[in-house]
Amino acid sequence: MDNLVRLRTVVKQYEPAGPPALGGVDLTVAPGEAVAVMGPSGSGKSTLLNLVAGLDRPSGGEVEVAGTVLNRLSETALARFRRANIGIVFQFFHLLDELTARDNVLLPAQLAGSSRRAARARADELLEALGVAGRADAYPARLSGGERQRVAVARALINRPPLLLADEPTGAVDARAGAQVLGLLRDLNQGGQTVLLVTHDESLAKGAATRIETMRDGRWAA
Ligand code: ADP
Repeated sequence: MDNLVRLRTVVKQYEPAGPPALGGVDLTVAPGEAVAVMGPSGSGKSTLLNLVAGLDRPSGGEVEVAGTVLNRLSETALARFRRANIGIVFQFFHLLDELTARDNVLLPAQLAGSSRRAARARADELLEALGVAGRADAYPARLSGGERQRVAVARALINRPPLLLADEPTGAVDARAGAQVLGLLRDLNQGGQTVLLVTHDESLAKGAATRIETMRDGRWAA
């Protein structure tokens, strides 16, 4: 199969003056790869991830994911595209406090129109595989950081997206939970899941990625 992610000279300029956040970046990610993007704070890593996720639009260049050029999609089409193709895990989990762990995981499947029965079976299977089945009925406030991140990973995977994105997934959990997140991402990748992650955490990048790329000032470091 062709590359799952292809960026062609992608530019992102938030402010009209000053240097761009991304200054013409190319990137390809093949199916089955786990690519970690590292680099100092402010170097453009989150900007890159947001563009691949279709959460923001480039000022120039082309962002192609799973064969679709995202630049030209309407907001509605972009939302539909994201639901089918992309799972995202954030540093601060972004779970909904008023929903149980299971209902957080179910939500993207319901938005995608899956039957409640099929979605629930898949959610329970994921929670089991991620070692948090016993916490399915708990609300996020009662979960540890590591448990929250595992629930967030289950939510990211419920619609079986070809691409899993992670933005500093170990940034807000303790060392033990960080090691679990690392193991989880590695296992998912070894099971065939393509992963693109952004991190400061060198042990995470080294342990979970098949390739590490480094950004500096909105470009790839030489
Ligand atoms: P990193 O993830 O590597 O810390 P970012 O992608 O968050 O870097 O930021 C890259 C650059 O773009 C920084 O100079 C940052 O201040 C700027 N930036 C990021 N988001 C915005 C925004 N929404 N508006 C204006 N500038 C932004």
